[in-house]
Amino acid sequence: MIYDTAVIGTGPAGVSAALNLKIHEKNFIWIGSKNLSDKITKAERISNYPGFIHPTGAQLNEAFKMQIEEMGIEITEAMVNAIYPMGDHYALAAGADFFEARTIILTTGVVNRNVLPGESALVGRGVSYCATCDGGLYRNRTIAVICSNRRFEHEVKYLSELAEKVYYFPGYKEVGELADNVETMGTRAARIEGEERVSAVGLSDGTSLTVDGIFILRDSISLGTLLPGLQTKDGHIAVDRTMATNLPGCFAAGDCTGRPYQYTKAVGEGNVAAHSVIEYLAK
Ligand SMILES: Cc1cc2nc3c(=O)[nH]c(=O)nc-3n(C[C@H](O)[C@H](O)[C@H](O)COP(=O)(O)OP(=O)(O)OC[C@H]3O[C@@H](n4cnc5c(N)ncnc54)[C@H](O)[C@@H]3O)c2cc1C
Repeated sequence: MIYDTAVIGTGPAGVSAALNLKIHEKNFIWIGSKNLSDKITKAERISNYPGFIHPTGAQLNEAFKMQIEEMGIEITEAMVNAIYPMGDHYALAAGADFFEARTIILTTGVVNRNVLPGESALVGRGVSYCATCDGGLYRNRTIAVICSNRRFEHEVKYLSELAEKVYYFPGYKEVGELADNVETMGTRAARIEGEERVSAVGLSDGTSLTVDGIFILRDSISLGTLLPGLQTKDGHIAVDRTMATNLPGCFAAGDCTGRPYQYTKAVGEGNVAAHSVIEYLAK
């Protein structure tokens, strides 16, 4: 089935786009986290969201969730690893699943973490963003796993069942229980080494560990990796006032399009992007 549109990301921009697409009865898939966005839940007090008086982020998140549920909107829990332009539509790889949509709305937010030195050059040559897709390649091998969020720990567990040894670099506190072959590292992964393929992970103390592959499980994937050919400006997706990008049928909204990073900007842009998609499909 080809969807009218695919919304990627479940922060305020994605929520707003999804609500508008639902109201207009579009056939869409919404991919991201059922918990929506950490950037909502982490806010202690929000004073600039109209209609709510100083809610906590958790309260705003709960209100979003209730609204989504009441409108009967489904979230497909997954990370989109790659998007391929197919001429008149887009193909999306999300874990082991593939989806197709005529248009897409990117609402992936921004990540402050930089891509590691060596990472981009070795994608597909030992650097992977998807445990389900590539885990099998590392059966009985030694791997490193860099993970930004506890919610991806099930993928670490899956990888530890395949690999012989896992060097684990969690970017969060309170690591859950992991298998004996997983060594949780106290140092930071600082670079990825290798010429033709990944050969080692470089540590922040200057030493290196020899590995066969590196899995990077982040809340977000760099834009260039996610959708090659997408035009960016100062690290954000370049859009016009209709939230259209340089690629036909591809729209973007929220923090990923630039500053200010604010809920109401994200919500407003999600609304505009959804309406632009509706207009685009009508043509
Ligand atoms: C602690 C804190 C407090 C803040 N307080 C305020 C405030 O008081 N007022 C205010 O206006 N703003 C505040 N902000 C900023 C606000 O959180 C952001 O501007 C807003 O969340 C942006 O929404 P977004 O939808 O663009 O992106 P995000 O909220 O970042 O959501 C993006 C979502 O997309 C997901 N995603 C990314 N890549 C993929 C992929 N490839 N596949 C699937 N899903 C993907 C991410 O995991 C995330 O869930 C605060 C931010 C923080 C961190």
